Amino acid sequence: MSIRLRLTLLYSAVLALMLIGLSVALYATVSRVTLGAIEDTLVGEAQRLVGSRDFDLNRIDYQARKFAAPETYIQTIRLDGSVADRTSNLGDFTLPISNGGLQVCERGQAWTEVVSTESGRLLVYSKPVVTAGQTVGIVQVARSLAEHDQSLATLSNVLFAGSAMVTLVLFGVAWVMSGAALRPIHHITATAQAIGAERNFDRRVDYVGPPDEIGQLATTFNAMLTELRAAYRQAEQALQAQRRLVADASHELRTPLTTIRGNLGLLRRDPPIDAADREAAIADLVDETDRLIRLASDLLVLARADAGRPLRREPVPVKPLVNDICRQAKLLGPARLIECENRLDVAVQGDRDALKQVLLVLLDNALKYTPPGGSITLSTGIAGEHVAIGIRDTGPGIAPDALPHIFERFYRSDSARAGAGAGLGLAIAKELIEAQRGTIRVESRVGQGSVFTVILPRADHDATLT
Ligand code: ADP
Repeated sequence: MSIRLRLTLLYSAVLALMLIGLSVALYATVSRVTLGAIEDTLVGEAQRLVGSRDFDLNRIDYQARKFAAPETYIQTIRLDGSVADRTSNLGDFTLPISNGGLQVCERGQAWTEVVSTESGRLLVYSKPVVTAGQTVGIVQVARSLAEHDQSLATLSNVLFAGSAMVTLVLFGVAWVMSGAALRPIHHITATAQAIGAERNFDRRVDYVGPPDEIGQLATTFNAMLTELRAAYRQAEQALQAQRRLVADASHELRTPLTTIRGNLGLLRRDPPIDAADREAAIADLVDETDRLIRLASDLLVLARADAGRPLRREPVPVKPLVNDICRQAKLLGPARLIECENRLDVAVQGDRDALKQVLLVLLDNALKYTPPGGSITLSTGIAGEHVAIGIRDTGPGIAPDALPHIFERFYRSDSARAGAGAGLGLAIAKELIEAQRGTIRVESRVGQGSVFTVILPRADHDATLT
């Protein structure tokens, strides 16, 4: 059963129940009030009759004309139950009295009851006639309830028909209104189905209306679609990047493997190659194997970064770390001037090993691209709530058109293609720094050199210059 039908039936059932309750209460009240009015009239007439000076139990018809209305039936009975007299409008009919009523009257109290006769119901009021403290007879005053019953029947018909009509009209109104209220939901369902079928996350639900529950549903649904579209695009981009990485990695692996295969062929030659060639082939084999190992470990670092493996986030004192890198720089590049501007006693929030790996990548590049006689400067500085670590070199610089690509995986400038690097160093550095909620920047001028800056959040805010 649809929500629309359920809601409509529920509203109609609640209304019908309320109308039935109201009708029953109204019917009962009208019946009680009108019956009470008739009874009051009968009580008044009986009192006037019994209280009159010339009241005679055996001559009631004569007095009735003076004290009661023509439509009132009056009958007197003796204590043995026999009829003493009755008004002529009763004809031969005897007004009944129940045994219970008789006993009540004998005790000197009045009694009212409704009796059913062939010509309709009667309200009978029986009043004992007491003389000198002794009940000597009973006066019964009665009126037909035909008119009263007729009015009540009409009332009940009107109430029933009215309630049924109101319920029916409300059913129709509720049906139309719930249909209108639920229409946007149908619209959202249809849009969701269409999006599922077409995979078109650019579609949105057109909702024109107040920001009620359905308005909120439409807004939430549209916001969810925006998120879904972003996630879908991200997933597509990630898949494409993954495909590219696999293709590039296979390509990079092929080159050293081909060289290794060629050199192994040389070594297996018969007659064997001479000793000098043999030495050269073995040196090639060692170099290419080293390159393969480097490539494999670089790919492993990237794969871990892609898998979102979390890095540690702890305070890492910058000074000892940069000093360490400076020392290595002096060892690895003795022909360059290595300068260390590392006086800040400050800590960054990050992972020590990952940060060291990044600085080594940058140092390796600086050493690789700075010719002997050039200089490399390592410096630290504070920028607001961040710490910057810079590595400046006086190498050839990077061409402006290459600059936006150097952090891409497997990107190498044309001049660097012949070198040992696979173009993964800066990609790894970027991934590792971003995983520590930091950034890495480069500024470069062709012919003058480059400066790579790593920016990480500060761990201690009250650091002082030493
Ligand atoms: P590679 O292993 O080739 O060094 P990287 O990802 O570290 O790979 O660097 C990508 C490219 O960025 C390099 O091929 C080079 O062209 C350029 N590059 C990186 N560092 C420097 C630098 N200090 N000076 C000039 N060019 C650089």
